[in-house]
Amino acid sequence: MSRQFLITGASSGIGAATALALAAQGDHVVLVARRVERLVHVAEQCAHAGGTATVFSADVTRAADWAEVALSKLQPEGEWVLINNAGAANFGPLTEQSAEGLAHELQVNLIGPLQLTAVFARAAVARGGGQVINVLSIAADTVFPGAAVYGAGKAGFRQAMRSLAAESRAQGLRVTNVLPGATDTEIWGEGGPDRSAMLTAEGVAETLVWLIQSPKDRTVEELRLTPPLGIL
Ligand code: NAP
Repeated sequence: MSRQFLITGASSGIGAATALALAAQGDHVVLVARRVERLVHVAEQCAHAGGTATVFSADVTRAADWAEVALSKLQPEGEWVLINNAGAANFGPLTEQSAEGLAHELQVNLIGPLQLTAVFARAAVARGGGQVINVLSIAADTVFPGAAVYGAGKAGFRQAMRSLAAESRAQGLRVTNVLPGATDTEIWGEGGPDRSAMLTAEGVAETLVWLIQSPKDRTVEELRLTPPLGIL
């Protein structure tokens, strides 16, 4: 059966790699992020790979305003899949976080995705089911100094998605939390840690595609994915 994908954070890293991997199978993907030129580039690559893509430039912190519009970009046929992948990391001691900075990080990693998922889940259940894949982080269950706000957002969203699964699995909604370890993407910024032993965005994307393709007679509720060397 064909599927329709809505992917947040699709302009770079894991989101872009996942969009490409899905497009390579001929799927349709709706690409969401703020940087429109980067989305257009990913959409061109998707078309080249054999799929189709729609660019939807939006800030996830404003998801309550645009979620319905984004869903209208999905075709009515086929199963709908939401990949909550957009994320922001501003690592540093909690004592050095500004009130605005920590509120923004929680908006990106928790509040916006919650608002989008609420709208998506309502629509998917009304259609008889669907799938929600959440790209969280091992910071959702592991303590890292400097990741108080990031960890709070990821852990909070993880728990919220476990509740959603409990509320909606009988209506055909499959919810999977993915907790990747360190991955070589631009989220680390310039001059960050050595990325040579990290997971690749393409490797994480390949795992997400495997999850999406898993038969409907089973649900992978949670997946922890680390580089071979574990926590780096
Ligand atoms: P990335 O390349 O920096 O991707 C982050 C994506 O999130 C970008 O597409 C960015 O797009 C989007 N984004 C950020 N703020 C946004 C906002 N306000 N509205 C809409 N989109 C927004 O890094 P990545 O590693 O692939 O990150 C993807 C996910 O993986 C994140 O949730 C991250 O927490 C998670 N993760 C990463 C690692 C790692 O080590 N890299 C490990 C575990 C989990 P725009 O800037 O164009 O909006």
